[in-house]
Parts: sequence; C-alpha cells; structure tokens
Amino acid sequence: MNNPSAPPMQMNAAPAHIGFSFDEQHHSTGAPGYQGQMPMVPMTQPQNELSGSQPVSPWQPNPSAGDVPGYEGDVPDTDPEDNDSEEPFTGPPPPDFNSFEAPPGYQQAVLSAGAPLPPPAYEPPDEASRPEETFTGVGIIDEQQVRDAICAFADKNCCYGTGAAERMSLEKMEPSGGLHYQLESFTETRTTCWQHLPYQGGFVDGPHCGRAPAVWEIVCSPSELFNTHTKKIEVPHTSNVKTCHTCTGCGFVRCTKCQGRGKVRCSSCHGSGRRTVHHNGRSERRNCTWCHGSGRKRCSRCSGDGRVRCPTCEGYTKLRWFIELTVQYTNNLEDFIHETTDLPNELIRDVSGKVVFEQTLPYVWPISQYHIQEINLSSIEMVERHRSAWPNSKMLQQRQVLRSVPVTEVHYKFKDKDGRFWVYGNEQEVHCPDYPQSCCWGCTII
Ligand SMILES: [Zn+2]
Ligand SMILES: [Zn+2]
Ligand SMILES: [Zn+2]
Repeated sequence: MNNPSAPPMQMNAAPAHIGFSFDEQHHSTGAPGYQGQMPMVPMTQPQNELSGSQPVSPWQPNPSAGDVPGYEGDVPDTDPEDNDSEEPFTGPPPPDFNSFEAPPGYQQAVLSAGAPLPPPAYEPPDEASRPEETFTGVGIIDEQQVRDAICAFADKNCCYGTGAAERMSLEKMEPSGGLHYQLESFTETRTTCWQHLPYQGGFVDGPHCGRAPAVWEIVCSPSELFNTHTKKIEVPHTSNVKTCHTCTGCGFVRCTKCQGRGKVRCSSCHGSGRRTVHHNGRSERRNCTWCHGSGRKRCSRCSGDGRVRCPTCEGYTKLRWFIELTVQYTNNLEDFIHETTDLPNELIRDVSGKVVFEQTLPYVWPISQYHIQEINLSSIEMVERHRSAWPNSKMLQQRQVLRSVPVTEVHYKFKDKDGRFWVYGNEQEVHCPDYPQSCCWGCTII
C-alpha cells in the first residue's frame, strides 16, 4: 500500500539558470559619459544561415492611382460587392511540424504538441520527518450573543417582525463545532508547441547558440502560490527563420474584400452607375453621385492595390519559429464538511471560524490524530487521492486547513410554538427557516 504521506519533493538537478542570450547581443545605444578617444570595436553577432542580421521593413501596399491593381494573381471577372463583413484571409495551413528539426529532447514534445511532459520523479518521504499534529480548541457563545444574533437576523429581514426575536424564550442552547477541512494541491504542468512570430531581422537564437535546455530544466516560478495562472516562455536556442507559409515570402496576400481587383461594386447603385431620383413628381435616371457614374468604387481595405499585408508575417516575409513552453499553474481545491446538527452543511463553508490545524508543505501529511475520526479518514483519503491525481504535473505545494466553525443549536418557545434555529460562524449568522413572525401574518398578531 502506498504511504499516503510523502516528503517534501527534492529536485535532484538544480536547474541552471538559462537566460536568453538575446539580451547579451544588444549593446546599449545610449551615449556614454566618456567623451575622450574610444577605440572602434566592431559589433559581433552570430549569423543565422537563413537570414542576415539587419532589420528589414515590412511589405507596403502601393495605392494605385489608376485602374490597375498591384495584385497580379487570380481575380474574379466582376467587381465583388462592397461588403465589410468579408471573411478574413485564410492562407495555406502551417507547415508539417514533423518536417521541422526539433532540438534534442524536444522531438517527442513537438510530435505530441500540447500534451503535458511528465515531471521528474520525487523521493518518497520519511516517517521521521512527519511533523507533530497540534490542534487548537473551539470557542462557544453565550445567551446574550445568541439573543443579539437572532435580533440582528430579524432586523435584516424586512418582512420579519423583531418582536419575536426580542421576546422568545431561549429554552436550550447546544453549542457544537462544525468542521471544515480543505486540501489544496498547487500543481505545475508543462507543455510545448511550435510558435512563430514575424521575423524583423536581427539576431536569431538558434541551435548554433547552444543546447536547448530540457523542458523541466527551464527556470519558471509561479507569481503566487495557490493561485491558478499560466506563463509562457520561449525555449532558448530553438529559433530558426523560415519563409512565411501564408504568403510564400512575398509579404502580401490577395485582398479578400475586392478579391484582388482593387475595386468593388458601388453599393449605392449596385454597380449600374445610375440611380432613379424623384423630382417634382417625376422620376428620372441620373448618374450615381457616390461613384460618379462608374458603378464601382476603390476598395477601402487595400486602397485599390488588390493586395494587403500578409497577416501571418505582417509583411516581413519571414517567420521566426521557436518552441514555446506553456507553464500552467493550477490550484486544485477539495473540501469536506463535518457537521452533526440539522444545519445545512454547506453553510459552514462561507463563514469564518477558528483554524484548528494548518500545514503547508511540498507534500502534506494527512491528519491522523484528530479526536473526530471522520476528519482523519477524510484527510487520509483526500491526501492519498491528490498524491496520484495529476501524474503529468509536478506538485509544487500543498496546503491543508482544518477550521472549526462555532454552531449553536437554539431551542426556543414563542407564543406556545416550539422551534429551533442555529447561530453559526464567527459572524454569528443565523439559519432560521421557520422564523415565527413574518409579515404575511405576523404584523397582525403584535
Ligand atoms: Zn507572410
Ligand atoms: Zn481590396
Ligand atoms: Zn454608384
């Protein structure tokens, strides 16, 4: 049987801090304070075989003054409708990632893009490191507090008369403690996939710059423990530059609005160039004033060029592909409520109480010595289940909290009617489903 208690996890290999060599290649361009003679030192940058290091400019459209659009590919025979709700350009799909040369250690990652990469194993814990369990007690409330609570409750509910709360006789008060046990397992999952950005020239941190660090060697820490969030990191030394697959390297694509013609049909005269106008009781055909009789308008999306900047490379013609690491931090929370009165259990969850026991460790030890056996059993069962619930994630930290929430069951008598209500939580909330005096009939009996 598995020992449900495991030790704080130890990562064997202390991850080396792997920075981006990008920054090291950039020298400050600010003017130095030193005004004297400076030796001329050429800037050296590694050259990528696929690209130069000079920044490049994106492709620019050429708004044509005349009727000839810049787009020279397939165009339809007639001007398309002037319709702004046109579908966005959909180019060829991205290349087959199997054809990409993945760095060592990433072949599997890249083939199974999106699948989590199992973390390194951890050493099981040692019973000797099990911390001692000490529990604090629970407070109880007195009759005056019960009276104040039921009066405040009646006061808050506008259709309840407060007379009953003030005058009811409190026959019996039974203090007890609801218990709220909560276990949080804060896990980290790592996945990788190929990602691309427009390549604007400059240094490329490719495999020639060094070995790509293994997925779980890359340093990344959560911004906050027990808070679900995601981080994305570019894996160093995985960049390479390729021709854009969408525009095949020209930087532009056919305009989807005019389909390359540079003109669209005039929406006012539907392309006829003429409109019927009513004047002094007569109708006559006149030139359309929107298109000056031509029936067509320059395409507003491409300014008549028939081409627009490629959306994938943003006109830069090349893409820098790299492996992107996605680090998902997830707080997995589960709880258990132990409450022996007829108060609905879930009411315990949202009120405050007293922390009886709290433990935060890479792997918590289940509670085993609390005087209420249900708590021990729930803790053992839950801790055990969390231990193996996320095999592809690394457990970063666990936190368990046992809170005792005061609950007082009160038996009252009011005008020969017996009833019960409960006062619970440090806030002294009241649960009184059968309050004896609601305005539907209560107003009349006072
Ligand atoms: Zn492109
Ligand atoms: Zn156009
Ligand atoms: Zn027109």
